[in-house]
Amino acid sequence: MDENCIFCKIIAGKIPTLKVYEDKDVMAFLDIAPANKGHTLIVPKKHSKDMLEDNNKDLAAVMKAASAEGFNFIANTGPVAGQVVFHTHFHIIPRFENDGLKHWPKKDYSEDEMIAVKNKIIESI
Ligand code: AMP
Ligand code: ZN
Repeated sequence: MDENCIFCKIIAGKIPTLKVYEDKDVMAFLDIAPANKGHTLIVPKKHSKDMLEDNNKDLAAVMKAASAEGFNFIANTGPVAGQVVFHTHFHIIPRFENDGLKHWPKKDYSEDEMIAVKNKIIESI
């Protein structure tokens, strides 16, 4: 439990939430500012800043709890990716026909850039 973490407070029952799922490792609750109706956050109960810091058991429990069809499953990881709550969590955003949500814009690679990026990724793993 991180005393300064809003999701830890939700998990501990100190802040009210609209819970949709809970097991011994995971809780899922509705996002207070949804991208679409039904936008849900799925959260390992044990505090970690983001999924890079998490361990496999917690992540496996989250993936198992997340099964659904027609949705975006997103983890904003790090401030540059728009993460604002630093307790590992995944967004499940239900999708509907003509719901107005857009995919991110496509970007083009310049010549040879794609190969350079591919090589950089390989070097880092
Ligand atoms: P991010 O860290 O970018 O993945 O965003 C955190 C998400 O948590 C946002 O979509 C917020 O709307 C949501 N959020 C923040 N506080 C609460 C809360 N008390 N209950 C439910 N959702 C919340
Ligand atoms: Zn937390």
